[in-house]
Amino acid sequence: MRWNGWGDPDRAAPLPDSVVGLLRELLGVRPDPVPPVPLAEVAPPAPAPVVRALTEIVGPDAVLTDDEARIRHTRGKSTPDLLRIRAGDAGAAPDAVVLPAGHEEVLAVLDRCSRERVAVVPFGGGTSVVGGLAAAGEGFAGVVALDLRRLDRVTALDTVARTATLQAGLRAPRAEALLAERGFTLGHYPQSYEWATIGGFAATRSSGQASAGYGRFDEMVAGLTVATPRGTLTLGRAPKSAAGPDLRELVLGSEGAFGVITDVTVRIRPLPEQRRYEGWRFPTFAEGTAAVRALAQDGPMPTVLRLSDETETMIGLARPGEIGGTHGGGCLAVCGYEGGPDDVAARRAGAHAALTAHGGEPLGDAPGESWAAGRYSAPYLRDALLDVGAFAETLETAGFWSALPRLADAVRQTLSRELPSSLVMCHISHVYRDGASLYFTVVTAQGDDPVGRWRRAKAAVSDAIVEAGGTITHHHGVGTDHRAWLAREIGPLGVDVLRAVKDRLDPAGILNPGVLIPPAGG
Ligand SMILES: Cc1cc2nc3c(=O)[nH]c(=O)nc-3n(C[C@H](O)[C@H](O)[C@H](O)COP(=O)(O)OP(=O)(O)OC[C@H]3O[C@@H](n4cnc5c(N)ncnc54)[C@H](O)[C@@H]3O)c2cc1C
Repeated sequence: MRWNGWGDPDRAAPLPDSVVGLLRELLGVRPDPVPPVPLAEVAPPAPAPVVRALTEIVGPDAVLTDDEARIRHTRGKSTPDLLRIRAGDAGAAPDAVVLPAGHEEVLAVLDRCSRERVAVVPFGGGTSVVGGLAAAGEGFAGVVALDLRRLDRVTALDTVARTATLQAGLRAPRAEALLAERGFTLGHYPQSYEWATIGGFAATRSSGQASAGYGRFDEMVAGLTVATPRGTLTLGRAPKSAAGPDLRELVLGSEGAFGVITDVTVRIRPLPEQRRYEGWRFPTFAEGTAAVRALAQDGPMPTVLRLSDETETMIGLARPGEIGGTHGGGCLAVCGYEGGPDDVAARRAGAHAALTAHGGEPLGDAPGESWAAGRYSAPYLRDALLDVGAFAETLETAGFWSALPRLADAVRQTLSRELPSSLVMCHISHVYRDGASLYFTVVTAQGDDPVGRWRRAKAAVSDAIVEAGGTITHHHGVGTDHRAWLAREIGPLGVDVLRAVKDRLDPAGILNPGVLIPPAGG
């Protein structure tokens, strides 16, 4: 992972000159971007002395205090995170990075850190885009990043029930490879797929690009093991249960504030024999939305179902390899089908009929296959935009179908008002019978103080989302960035419930302080 950007450094690709020219002409991007500070010149603050107590638990080789390790565990991968680290700001670096080897070591670390008042930030792939790794260290003796990368095994596979127990630090591609060896798949493909972990997916209620077919990650979870400062929670002894409230739901989305997830038992499926993706064009976003809703409500449901608005279609963002090409107007939908040949053929035929009846024009396999080939490329594009002085960031929400048009308009209008001379693009990214999520991408010039401008714009958009009846987040999570709006979404009593749970599981408040739980009076 690039320490100050995204992904495999070998896959970084500069923007074509023609696109840079357009960014300057249309968005006022300045021709003299500030280059990033080199790694050797980034100086995190002197570390607090937290190491001795932890080496006794995990061994000296599993506690890292070198500058590079600390810098690589500073914040996450939102655009403001990247801008800060590119500017050499590692002020939020943890004092140490701890690499436990298993559940018992995690328990011991939490116990020791509780007694010594050291804050603990559970760290999976480090891909949070909502400040989920930016714990507040004030009032603590130090802050450690608890990197779960050594918990990277499949510990059980039940081919009868079709479940697998995956350790929390397993990255998604490795999890898929290990399952594929046994003929299974999880089917969870978020855009952060290449780096994010099983524990991170559960802790944030992640949603992948094939959620229409495989479900959200929280729907894949059958069981969890969680280390807390008070001991172990083992959850999920049957697929469904009437034994009181489902505590699995309390852990899903808990973002490291209640405990450290050490393994997750997931529902798996046989590897699909066929994968087929295709494109459809709709004259307008409203017509495309009606078509997508028809599939979500009346079926047949594709495995992948997404619809870009007019601007996103025009720019070609659904197919990053073709940015700036010509796309014939309207709105592009991508429908994908994964499964056995009969199942794929039947769902495809049914969906063709429904989409055609709603005014869709089939574009064949090429746009769908092109989307599939570039499905993990957009984050690399963001780095290229930052390199030329542009700013690209995303945000997401969800609402019921009846509220969706108003929600989409509210976000678009607020972004355009707060960030004049910007490109605002939207797509429907995940669909349900009763509603859908909306995913927005904004591209603008960095100008002066891009982090401050984005913070103000994001606050205005978050207000607009709450007022228009949407949720503050459909899949990115709350982190530090959305806490104030979570409080508005669930109300003071809801916040009290979360605080009570935290107080019981983490009495010293060491777990991810400041993340998820809204501050008192906030
Ligand atoms: C370019 C990009 C694209 C993205 N695309 C998507 C997408 O398509 N869909 C989507 O849902 N999200 C997406 N995200 C957001 C992010 O990838 C997800 O939130 C992901 O689930 C986080 O996984 P991670 O392993 O990187 O967790 P981290 O970023 O390391 O952690 C996320 C949060 O969970 C906590 N945490 C991590 N592991 C554990 C654990 N084992 N136990 C307890 N708490 C833990 C952390 O403390 C933190 O608060 C994207 C992010 C980026 C940068």
